[in-house]
Amino acid sequence: MKRTYNEFIDNGLFVVSYYLKKDIQDITINDLKKTTDYFSNLAIKVLDNETLRNIVYTGYFSSQYEMSYRFMEKYYKTFEKRKNNVYKQYNNLLNNVSDDKYCICCGEKQVNINIEIGRNIIPDIVAGKFYNSANNLQMVDICPICCYLALLSIFNVIPIITKKGTIPSCVLYISDSNVVMKNITSKNMDLVLTQSLMNSIQIPKRQSLINITKDYNLPDFILNNISYITQVNFINNKNGSSIEKDIINNNKILFINKLSNTNNLEFFKKFYLYHALLDDKSMIKSIINQVNKYLEEGDIENMCDLIEKYEIPNKVKVLINKTFNMIMSANDEDALRKEIKLCDTIAKFEQFLLKNYEKSNQDLNEGEIYELTNYKYWNKYKYLLEWKLIREIKKNKGDK
Ligand SMILES: [Zn+2]
Repeated sequence: MKRTYNEFIDNGLFVVSYYLKKDIQDITINDLKKTTDYFSNLAIKVLDNETLRNIVYTGYFSSQYEMSYRFMEKYYKTFEKRKNNVYKQYNNLLNNVSDDKYCICCGEKQVNINIEIGRNIIPDIVAGKFYNSANNLQMVDICPICCYLALLSIFNVIPIITKKGTIPSCVLYISDSNVVMKNITSKNMDLVLTQSLMNSIQIPKRQSLINITKDYNLPDFILNNISYITQVNFINNKNGSSIEKDIINNNKILFINKLSNTNNLEFFKKFYLYHALLDDKSMIKSIINQVNKYLEEGDIENMCDLIEKYEIPNKVKVLINKTFNMIMSANDEDALRKEIKLCDTIAKFEQFLLKNYEKSNQDLNEGEIYELTNYKYWNKYKYLLEWKLIREIKKNKGDK
């Protein structure tokens, strides 16, 4: 089978691949049919745990996983009955592959128009995913195979378990790299099979994304070839349901790895810089906002260098260094920092530069001054200068 790059379907596919010990491209529909007994059994084994059952409410609402427990008192009193209910849904899908239409997920001509693909069959994975009830779609051209695999994605879900033992949200990972998918699946399946999912109290989800290369033993040599790892986080509670995604692209993956290899990851987390990194905001600005903490912290200059390297393009770096030398030759860093903080408009910033320019003995050409006061970028230059001042202040403090 081929990958669809849909997070739910692909996660199911890798779960099957793990169980059958077969590469995804070698898996056939007949292979899938041999897995329904095993997976329905496993599903109920996991979901009989009351806390873990919340995974179902969070992401697989209205599937037979959920039905088995909604009507547990009435129809599905025993393990066998619950299992059979899920087993029937699995088989109902796999035995009804047809060739009516092409599937919008996998592209194969195996849609069965007589199966209504709605909330009753596919994991009711909140609006905008497979199926958007707002569009009032009664039918979606998704084939039974994709539906089956999507249901199996539940085994690759990491529930965020709080200390109180609740599950506020669930996480699935997807990457373009098959090696990454394999590593993630094998570790997750290990947790499921050893029934230790409950013991894996999860740290905040964004931190787990930052830890991913370590937590899932992704070897250094493959990191270069990964385009992205996406963390899909789904929530369904009384405030509504939603899906959030955080993506780390290759640049970010390599940067995180560099931090990790140089033992800077703990500082990185201590300053909550992953929020800036994931949101494509400036980590430097984030440290400036925590300036007291920065000044009190021990030597984290190595991390700061790495961040500068990641964040400041070379051309900008040259200009900022030049400007920094210019202002420093006219003043001391404490006075400058007070002054620069007051520059809340482009005009004030320009005045600040010109005043120091006149006092200094350094050359900055007109074009450079013009560039520094570019209406689009002046704010960035301002905080980069402030950043350099702060680093200088810390350095001098250390030297004393
Ligand atoms: Zn399909």
